[in-house]
Amino acid sequence: MPERAVEPITEAITEAITEAITEAIAEAIALSGIGKEFPLRRGHAVRALDGFDLTVEHGEFVAILGPSGCGKSTVLRLVAGLEAPTEGEVRVEGRGPAELIREHRLGVAFQEHALLPWASARANVALPFKVAGRQVDRARVDALLHLVGLEGFADARPRQLSGGMRQRVAIARALALNPDVLLLDEPFGALDAVTRRRMNLELARIWMAQRITTLLVTHDVDEAVLLADRVVVMTGRPGRVRHVQRVDLPRPRGTEVTREPAFHALVDQLTGLLDEAEPAGTAA
Ligand code: ADP
Ligand code: MG
Repeated sequence: MPERAVEPITEAITEAITEAITEAIAEAIALSGIGKEFPLRRGHAVRALDGFDLTVEHGEFVAILGPSGCGKSTVLRLVAGLEAPTEGEVRVEGRGPAELIREHRLGVAFQEHALLPWASARANVALPFKVAGRQVDRARVDALLHLVGLEGFADARPRQLSGGMRQRVAIARALALNPDVLLLDEPFGALDAVTRRRMNLELARIWMAQRITTLLVTHDVDEAVLLADRVVVMTGRPGRVRHVQRVDLPRPRGTEVTREPAFHALVDQLTGLLDEAEPAGTAA
């Protein structure tokens, strides 16, 4: 009976189309009405986020700035599915983060880059393929090493690399499986100012080549303005969105941009907002 054979296929196709439409019309990342409480001992709790709302469009680069302890990393961990919200909803590509993680469509690079110390840069970048149980795409691994400017260091172990180079390996690794969304939590926080600046320019260049939806947490205002399409300033804990600033500086953005009056005006404005969120003497 041909009709019986056709029916499940039609259903599968309908499902696939529905899924494709859901993803196409959904924001890349949508956090709505997010509250997050961490239980402490003896029935106490710390409220990290309260009424946090944010949407990120497909291919957009959004930076989150805020005083220390305001819940920035918590926001990223919620999007990465490493924490569940106490209230509200997190959607990535129109779905729950768990589904995207299962499909290895989220790329994550956090400050503690956690490279395998005994493995070469190349093997570290190839690691996500192994974790996902996929055959290593050697051409892609080499292309990523080239993208982050480490083609000459493919065989070096992490301890043979500088801090900036190790972060570049971590970013290449986060990009390995061609994720839909890239999450960066203070990826350059441990670097000296000069290296950090160089890495910022490098990331701006990499992002221009990939245009991947990116959510970056940082406490460096220059970094946020140089890299982002929009900068979100959070309040102190419990964190919520205090201000969203569009950055209309032209791309590609190189060192010249950092000398523009418009760049400095934005940095000054955002620094002022941060100072208000974190009155002198109360910083953690
Ligand atoms: P930020 O990244 O902005 O510095 P976090 O998101 O790391 O801030 O933390 C926000 C608040 O939540 C802080 O007060 C922190 O101590 C608390 N917090 C974060 N994670 C946990 C956890 N797993 N257990 C208890 N408290 C936590
Ligand atoms: Mg943090």
